[in-house]
Amino acid sequence: MESFRNLGISEPVLRSIKDEKFESPSEIQEKSIPLILAGEDVIAGSATGSGKTLAFASGIIKSVEKGNGLQALILVPTRELAEQVAKALTKFSKYRPLGIIAVYGGVGINPQIQGLKTADVMVGTPGRILDHIGRNTIRLGRVKILVLDEADRMFDMGFKEDVERIIRKCPEERQTLLFSATITKDVVRLARSHMKKPIQVSVESYVDPKKLIQTYYNVGDDLKFNLLVHLLKHENSRLVMVFCNTKRNTDKVAKNLRFADIDAMAIHGGLTQGKRNNVMERFHSGKSCVLVCTDVAARGLDISGVSHVYNYDIPRESKQYIHRIGRTARAGAEGKAINILSSRDYENFSQVLKEYDVDITEEMMPALEKTAARKPERGANRHIIKRGQHKRRRRLY
Ligand code: AMP
Repeated sequence: MESFRNLGISEPVLRSIKDEKFESPSEIQEKSIPLILAGEDVIAGSATGSGKTLAFASGIIKSVEKGNGLQALILVPTRELAEQVAKALTKFSKYRPLGIIAVYGGVGINPQIQGLKTADVMVGTPGRILDHIGRNTIRLGRVKILVLDEADRMFDMGFKEDVERIIRKCPEERQTLLFSATITKDVVRLARSHMKKPIQVSVESYVDPKKLIQTYYNVGDDLKFNLLVHLLKHENSRLVMVFCNTKRNTDKVAKNLRFADIDAMAIHGGLTQGKRNNVMERFHSGKSCVLVCTDVAARGLDISGVSHVYNYDIPRESKQYIHRIGRTARAGAEGKAINILSSRDYENFSQVLKEYDVDITEEMMPALEKTAARKPERGANRHIIKRGQHKRRRRLY
């Protein structure tokens, strides 16, 4: 606990950290908390799982006064992240309770309007916040801390203009904290125009590479699904995430896994908010252990206890790859990332490896049993890499 105390964290927050049984600060906490508590503007290059929520929470809990109007605003890219951050803030402020509200689209606006009347801290997605601004149901005149969480993701999702419009509605006299997995040109531009002498701190992803095993299987298109079923049945796993590149594939794989007697659920942006909450609840509670998801749906979700991440489709960029594998081997736990590769993934896999220097070892194909499920996909043999090329690449893996 001393190591947290030395960062300047206030007593009530230290008590909640003790309850959470955190042993020592993560790297981003060590580097950013003293600056945040000193009132500096901070740009933190840190991925999900780095412990960034506690970093900005410690600043918010220190300076926000209960019942004094909305004083802290946290912008996040997705509804799930809004819920998750609000929950984490509630936990960390247990011994100094604050009015915390999550505000996002896809659910009724009236309860939010009511809640906003007494909220001290708001976590929300840009679209719904602008909606409230337009209706005059939110007052930003007392905001003293503005947090932009997963800024790169908000830009990727097309929220750049919305974010800027919201920032311009906040008082100029404020502290601005920006968290982003990658410091892109847009992030730098935004920081230049809206932050005061920001100090940049960066850390590697919180995933401990020594605790994360990364492997790949090279299979025929028609065996991909059977291999996934085999591994899900034979690997000793706790919670599992299976990543696909499209909503359609996500639904299809989840459905076929259920045909194969595996309790799987799909989550993607095409589901209603109620459904998404439901799926996440079941997954969190361990009632269903396999979550099949797209990158957008999974981004920022804090799910502990994920032992395996499967890339059923290989993502197009290393950035996505790193985000996906960052779901496991978190906070000191061990994890495994398994890539199921067929010819149409070669191009993406080569791209990932070009940008991300890491050991991914090839596993031999196990003997597969027949599955009842239909084959989820066919065809698309367009990106065949020649044998020699593949061998050359393999030295990189
Ligand atoms: P975050 O990056 O804020 O989403 O945090 C990722 C996960 O790490 C959450 O489950 C936190 O509760 C947990 N966490 C945050 N800080 C620490 C810490 N110092 N030690 C262990 N776990 C932590």
